[in-house]
Amino acid sequence: MAEIFDPKPIVNKGFEIDERILNIADKAEENCAAEFASIDRTARINGERVLKAFIDNKVSAACMNGTAGYGYGDLGRDTLDAVYAQVMGGEDALVRHSFVSGTHALTCALFGVLRSGDKLVSLTGAPYDTLEEVIGIRGKGNGSLADFGVGYDQVELLPDGTPDLAEIFNKAKDAKVAYIQRSRGYSLRPAFTVDGIAEMVKAAKGSNPDIIVMVDNCYGEFVESKEPLHAGADLIIGSLIKNPGAGIAETGGYIAGRSDLVEQCAYRLTCVGMGKEVGCSLNQNKLMYQGLFFAPEVVANALKTAAFTGEIMSLLGFKCFPEKGAKRGDIITAVLMKDKESLIAFCQGIQKGSPVDSFVIPEPWDMPGYDSQVIMAAGSFNTGSSIELSADAPLRDPFAAYVQGGLTFSAGRMGVLIALQEMFDKHCLKLF
Ligand SMILES: *Cc1c(COP(=O)(O)O)cnc(C)c1O
Repeated sequence: MAEIFDPKPIVNKGFEIDERILNIADKAEENCAAEFASIDRTARINGERVLKAFIDNKVSAACMNGTAGYGYGDLGRDTLDAVYAQVMGGEDALVRHSFVSGTHALTCALFGVLRSGDKLVSLTGAPYDTLEEVIGIRGKGNGSLADFGVGYDQVELLPDGTPDLAEIFNKAKDAKVAYIQRSRGYSLRPAFTVDGIAEMVKAAKGSNPDIIVMVDNCYGEFVESKEPLHAGADLIIGSLIKNPGAGIAETGGYIAGRSDLVEQCAYRLTCVGMGKEVGCSLNQNKLMYQGLFFAPEVVANALKTAAFTGEIMSLLGFKCFPEKGAKRGDIITAVLMKDKESLIAFCQGIQKGSPVDSFVIPEPWDMPGYDSQVIMAAGSFNTGSSIELSADAPLRDPFAAYVQGGLTFSAGRMGVLIALQEMFDKHCLKLF
């Protein structure tokens, strides 16, 4: 048989990783082989769906050009909306660089659809930290949904972290919007798979067929071969500096789903009556197209980094979520660090292994929207972009590091090894 592999690869020098860490890394990578093959299959299916949407919607060279001013008749913007709608399985989409973050896109969706006297019910327990102020769970008088007379209730997850379908059926009865957070966010409960989301949709619509199911899709895009709209959700929302922007889109967010609802969200983002027809794309169109085009492959690299992280940390005796063999619903691996020193050392090590700002030392700080101090390691091309290798953690018990991203597996893998070396150097890791 012909030699198809590189027979004598050169060994990269200079990272100064302890031999024992390198050996465990080899073992971890070996253990991930089957999962990597499955990740590649999913990437192919999603990559094909993206390519088909580009072709079907006649994406052209002209679409790459931006507009200034009001942005009337922006071909690139309008075509990108159609491409996203097709990829995500919706009737329409609103993809804009002018969403300042995922939280902003989610806020436009909530305020776009809900009216005074309506009720919002979260089906997946407490929502992501930054939404507490938006909903009005934390802080009053700031213009939250509560201030405008929108009621809120939540269905707690069962002790094993799965949704309480019977309680969803009950609480959906008098609600206008049912809210699902796909990703684990800053919690140790599992991320929900698209099939799991389908069950929640069925339970909520079983008692209230008119209920609008909205899914916070952050960190979930392209993890599986289908998205929540394919499972019966009405609206999904995400950030372009996470999965669907592939580290290429510079900022922004998207909302996709039922066209009447997308229009209401657009009325909230711009203004009533104008909606989607205004909003210039400046020079962002090409980056958003390229981001979506690369996203299935980049998410695959992030997933491989996630699987590798879970495996190597488990081999070293740390408890990780998702646990081995569990199906992934997002790109996050949570690693229980046992104490504050280990958590900080790990995050500082991830920063050291980043392509950008490797020489910077992250420290815990009071980040807007969060109620405990947060440490964030993110040596990324786009500030705060967490499809790029990043580790962040609220400094609270149980000192879990939430690790996500990795534009390429080679850099993601080495980033994690450098973090382990940092822990070892700071006496937070024992090697045998
Ligand atoms: C990232 C994220 C958001 C939005 O956060 P931003 O930092 O505002 O983009 C919301 N929900 C979840 C689950 C997230 O991961």
